[in-house]
Amino acid sequence: MAFEVMVDIQKCNGCEECLEVCTVSVFEMRDGKSIPARVKECLGCQSCVEICKEKAITVKELEPEMSEIARMLLKDIL
Ligand code: SF4
Ligand code: SF4
Repeated sequence: MAFEVMVDIQKCNGCEECLEVCTVSVFEMRDGKSIPARVKECLGCQSCVEICKEKAITVKELEPEMSEIARMLLKDIL
């Protein structure tokens, strides 16, 4: 399962709560703002979304990407 993690840096106050709560270290601080630097590690637990008082974080499940081969096979079947 893949997730999209976004931080609205206009809202982020640099409290680092999201860095502390994320068990897989998705976030890191850059210039006083939290950046989702390791999105691929995200488990979609939403803990960061819940802990962020500024409501700066959104975590969204991504649609699984279909490979070109799977797409062609489906086209044949349907
Ligand atoms: S918890 Fe929210 S406000 Fe605090 S550093 Fe993370 S994104 Fe920024
Ligand atoms: S949803 Fe969970 S795993 Fe993903 S970035 Fe937030 S705290 Fe980390």
